[in-house]
Amino acid sequence: MTSCYGCKHDPVHMEGKPGMMPTVERFVSPEKGNGLRATAGISRGQLVSWAEPLACCVSNKRAREVCHHCFSRRESLLRCSQCKMARYCNTACQKQAWSGHKRECRCLRRLLPRHPTDSVRLAARLIFALLNPPMNISNELYTLEEHESHLNSMSEEKKEGLSQLASMLDLYLQQEDSDRTQEITSSCQDPLSLIAKVTCNCFTISDGELQEVGVGLYPSLSLLNHDCRPNCVMVFEGTRLQLRAVQDISPQEELTISYIETLSLTEERQKQLEEQYHFICRCQRCDSKQEEELMLSGEEENWLQLKVALPKLEELNAESNWQVLLESCGRLLSAAGVEVPDENLYKLRVTDLALDAAVHLGQWEDALRYGMKTLPAYRLYYPDPHPVHGIQLMRVGKLQHYLEHTQEALDTFKEAFKIMRITHGDDHPLTTDLNMRMEECHHEIKKQLSGRH
Ligand SMILES: [Zn+2]
Ligand SMILES: [Zn+2]
Ligand SMILES: [Zn+2]
Repeated sequence: MTSCYGCKHDPVHMEGKPGMMPTVERFVSPEKGNGLRATAGISRGQLVSWAEPLACCVSNKRAREVCHHCFSRRESLLRCSQCKMARYCNTACQKQAWSGHKRECRCLRRLLPRHPTDSVRLAARLIFALLNPPMNISNELYTLEEHESHLNSMSEEKKEGLSQLASMLDLYLQQEDSDRTQEITSSCQDPLSLIAKVTCNCFTISDGELQEVGVGLYPSLSLLNHDCRPNCVMVFEGTRLQLRAVQDISPQEELTISYIETLSLTEERQKQLEEQYHFICRCQRCDSKQEEELMLSGEEENWLQLKVALPKLEELNAESNWQVLLESCGRLLSAAGVEVPDENLYKLRVTDLALDAAVHLGQWEDALRYGMKTLPAYRLYYPDPHPVHGIQLMRVGKLQHYLEHTQEALDTFKEAFKIMRITHGDDHPLTTDLNMRMEECHHEIKKQLSGRH
C-alpha cells in the first residue's frame, strides 16, 4: 500500500492489513437484510474498521484539481500525455498509478473527445481490478455477486437512465480484453445490473473540507445499513476509508452510518433515501420527529422566503457566483429578521451559504459573523460527534485566528479537537493540523501576556 503523502501516517498504526477488525461480524438484520454488528463492546472514538477501495476514481468535476492516484488537491498537476484526463502530483504518483490506469487510459483515449460519467469509469475500474485481483479480495465479507442492484424497485425512468450508462460502459470497454471482461460482467448478470450495483453501493470520497473528490467501492462496508442518528461515521484519508464509532456500542448491536446529510427534515431525508437508496427509513429519529419543531421555528411567513430562495442560492453557489450569492443571502437574512431564530433550518442553510461566499471573497469579518451564527445550531443538531460539526468549528476557529481573536480561536479549536479526536482519530492529518494551530494560539497568547508586563 502506497500513498505519496501518507508516509508519515504509516498504515501499520492501523493494526496491519485492511479489513474488518475482530469486533465486527456480518449478520442478517431483521427488516433491513444484510448488515454489520459488533461482536464485542466498542467505545466511542474507537476505530471500528478501515479499508482501501476495491476500485475508485476522481469525480469528473474535480478531475483537474485532484491527483488521480492519492486524491490530494493541488494547484498544479502533471497531466497524463496519452488520455489527457488523469492528473498526478508528480511522477512518483503517476508511476504508482500506472498499473491501475493502463487499461483505463486506452479506453479513455478511444472515447475522446467524450468523457465517460463517474459511474461508468468506476464500473470499468472495478472490472479492471477484478481482472487483476488484489490480494485482499478474499477478505471481503461481501462479494460483488451479493451486492444489491435494486433493479426491481426502480422507476422506469431511473432504469432507462441506467441502461444508457450500461451502453456507454459497453462502448467504453470495447475490444478491451473482451473475453475476460465479459466473463466478469456476466458474473454480475449483465452490464445493466453491474452499473446498478455500482451506483447503489458506491461511496463518495471526500477531502478534509468534506468536499466530494471521488467515488469508490468498499465491498465489506456496503453492508452497513443507514440510520438518521448513526452510531458510526466514515472519514477519508486520501482514498482510505475509516469507520469510527461516535457512540458507545454494545455487543450484538448493529453498526450504522448515515447515507445522507443528517441535518435535514424527516420528510426530506425520507424522500432522498427512497429515491436514491430505495428504502423507507423507520429509524427512531424518523419516528420521533422531535427536532422538527425546532428546525421550523419562527414565523412561517418570515422563513418561507428563505426556503423558496434556497434553490436559486444553491445554483449561485454551484456557479461560484460569490458576489451575487453574498448579497442575496444578506438581503434575505435581514428581511427574515429576528423573528426567525438561528436554529431555523432554512435560515441556517442561507447563513452557511453566506459564510461560503464571504470566505471565497476574502471578506473575513463577514465570514466570521456568519460562521458564529451557525455554531449554536450545529451544537444542537449534532448531538453526537460529527465530522461536519468538527470541520465547521475548525473553519470558524481559523477565521478567529486570522483576525487575531486569539483566545476565542483557541476555545473554538479546543471544541473542534474534542469532536475530531473521535470522528477522525489522533493520527489523522486534520487532527494533527488542528493540534498545531492550538499550539500556535497558546504561543501567541503567552507572547501577548509577556509583552504586557
Ligand atoms: Zn498524488
Ligand atoms: Zn492516461
Ligand atoms: Zn431515519
